[in-house]
Amino acid sequence: MSRPRARSLLPGAAGAYTRDHMNGSAGDLRVPTNPGDLQLLVAAAAASVLLIALLFIILRRRQSERSYVDRLRDREERLKLALWATGERYWAYDVVAGKLHRLAAESRETPTGDLAEDVADVGDVVHPDDLPMVRQRVEDYLSGHTDTFLAELRVADARGEWVWMRARGRAVARDAQGHIQRIAGTALNITGTRAAERELRISSEVLRSMNEAVAVIDRNFDFVSVNPAFLRMTGYDEEDVIGRNSSLLDSLQHDTAFYQHIREQIRRKGRWNGEIWQRRKDGEEFLCQIESSTVYDKNGQLILYVAVLNDITQQKRAEQELRYLANFDTLTNLPNRSLLSERLSRAIVRAHREDNRIAVLFLDLDRFKDVNDSLGHAAGDRILRAAAARLQQTVGMHHTVARLGGDEFTVVLENLEAPEEADRVAREIIMAFEAPLLLDDRREIAISPSIGISLYPDHAHVPTELLKQADTAMYQAKAAGRRTFMRYDDAMDVVVRQRATISGALRKVLDRGELRLVFQPQLALAEGRITGVEALLRWHSDEHGEIPPADFIPMAEESGLILEIGEWVLREACLTLQRWRQHGLTDLTVSVNVSVLQLLRGDFPEVVSRVLADIALPPSALELELTESVLMANAEHTAAKLQAFRELGVSLAIDDFGTGYSSLAYLKRLPITTIKIDKAFIGDLTHDPEDAAITSTVITMAHSLGLNVVAEGVETEAQVRFLRGQQCDEVQGFWLSQPLDAHACLAFIRNWRPAREPATIQPVAAP
Ligand code: C2E
Ligand code: MG
Ligand code: MG
Repeated sequence: MSRPRARSLLPGAAGAYTRDHMNGSAGDLRVPTNPGDLQLLVAAAAASVLLIALLFIILRRRQSERSYVDRLRDREERLKLALWATGERYWAYDVVAGKLHRLAAESRETPTGDLAEDVADVGDVVHPDDLPMVRQRVEDYLSGHTDTFLAELRVADARGEWVWMRARGRAVARDAQGHIQRIAGTALNITGTRAAERELRISSEVLRSMNEAVAVIDRNFDFVSVNPAFLRMTGYDEEDVIGRNSSLLDSLQHDTAFYQHIREQIRRKGRWNGEIWQRRKDGEEFLCQIESSTVYDKNGQLILYVAVLNDITQQKRAEQELRYLANFDTLTNLPNRSLLSERLSRAIVRAHREDNRIAVLFLDLDRFKDVNDSLGHAAGDRILRAAAARLQQTVGMHHTVARLGGDEFTVVLENLEAPEEADRVAREIIMAFEAPLLLDDRREIAISPSIGISLYPDHAHVPTELLKQADTAMYQAKAAGRRTFMRYDDAMDVVVRQRATISGALRKVLDRGELRLVFQPQLALAEGRITGVEALLRWHSDEHGEIPPADFIPMAEESGLILEIGEWVLREACLTLQRWRQHGLTDLTVSVNVSVLQLLRGDFPEVVSRVLADIALPPSALELELTESVLMANAEHTAAKLQAFRELGVSLAIDDFGTGYSSLAYLKRLPITTIKIDKAFIGDLTHDPEDAAITSTVITMAHSLGLNVVAEGVETEAQVRFLRGQQCDEVQGFWLSQPLDAHACLAFIRNWRPAREPATIQPVAAP
């Protein structure tokens, strides 16, 4: 009966209670007898059960609360420990309030102490420059673009200084709709790391962009790291070298021991500088300037070697080229003056030690200047190159052949037994130059050298003196008629000194009025009439006396003074003839000698026409004499110039014909009117059948070309007879007259009475 009610209140408990009560404690309790009591009893029991249960629950909750706080404290300890150990800070960002909570272990030294918390507006603690980025990152996280919040930003620390922090965090609270309310996470001070990273980034960037190749090598000399410049320089790819031994670059220029020695040096001393040959991937060897040093760790333990490599092959080559330029003549590739003196000095030292002789041969190409001026400098250069080759070929590679400049060459002969050996070599050189030099496929040119010789120890003991004396001797060889050699002797010095003073005096010659002209008449054999005179220059120097034209004209040519002097001669000759014409000698012509320089430089045809116009002399009264060498130098060029004179109406004569290289056939192309056979042929005409034959041939051929022939240097009656027999047109020489001054010459011509027979023509004695 009671069970249903009890079941409706607290079925399990009541039933249990009832069962326990009825089974186990029936004898201890008084069983209520009336129903009211029973109801009360049940209520009381239920209340006490409830109370007990309540107590139990409270107790349990207290207990669990206590353990929760304990756990919380424990966690806080752990958090503190973690934050202390990692140096991280805890933070939380209240998305709604925009507040930032920061938590950090108060003590940095020990893991004990409290966690300090501060709360601030984000805008107050984050660096203004980083704020937009931070907001964007938060936004990205909130909107689900990123899984975590991650940012590197500057934050004000407790002292108000900016420190770089790396912060990461995630959502820790959301509202009912799932919107993030709070983000929390940790932040690490990375100020130091960032600086280090930056440094590392900069240095690796520097390494990357460096022009110098850099290689990092470990203690076994295996490559650890290399920069792009290194790869460019060696031609290897990074994977070809990393982990490989640096001997990969060893070249064959040095032996293995050499490279080992260097590595040993690096190992022992920690650094090494120097130049070594290395080899690229393609096998090409290059000269490398290496600077290696050692990188140690904090404890002073060696870690790595760093080598900076520079390819200096080009630089070395350039240096070599410069050295070459400083020592060699680029045109002929022969040693130049400076290398010559160096070699000569060394040769002198050797000769002194071994007690033997040296010869210095100073060589100059004859009339090179004329050739160079007329053929042009390109051809001149070719001649010099060909001459250099011929010279070296003749003396052999074991003797030094040098070019001093221009057309001057020097040969140094060592270990001479006797001075005559030098003469022999000089003679051989002259012979070797007999064969013409080839300019190109078509052109060749004959050019002869003049050689001067000086000897060590006979003449001098130092290079400069030896060269000077050989030069002096060379000048003497030139004066002796060129195409020959001369050995130096002390008397030459006197000549040279004189030459120097004369050439100084020559500069003042026009101002001082020391020049004058003499005139040598020319006789036309057929008519027995004086047809013309040759104007010849004379210089009487106050200091040096009478100086023959053969001496001073070459000097005037060298200095260029001949242009001025030549014009003076031309004007003076024309003036004289004009005066004579006023005395009735209107059929007479005057011949003026022209130097090569006058012909080639400047506007000589204009000069001539101006002078003629000034003096009002008909051009037909003037003849210009040009030597063969002038004409042969460059036919085309000279022909054009000569044509200009012919157009003016001036006659042209070839002087000293027979001494040069020209042939009559060649002369046919030139607009000349007269040939003057050189006195060298006339002098021996009556004794030397060969000269006689040449002279008669020249006369015949010249006539066939329609040219007038003058024989020069006619001294004897016999010569006149011979020439007349050969139908030579005119004669000039001491037989007829010495060169005379203007006054005497005028008298000579006016007094000239042609005789019927040549034998009766009596030359007039010179004044
Ligand atoms: P050249 O033009 O062949 O002149 C002839 C030379 O022979 C002259 O020498 C003359 O005095 C000389 N002579 C004349 N008849 C005889 C003779 O029967 N026997 C010998 N042995 N010699 C004779 P000079 O006057 O000493 O002139 C030498 C050279 O100097 C000239 O040779 C000419 O090339 C040059 N020269 C002279 N005057 C001038 C000038 O005004 N300008 C230039 N550029 N050269 C000149
Ligand atoms: Mg002449
Ligand atoms: Mg002559």
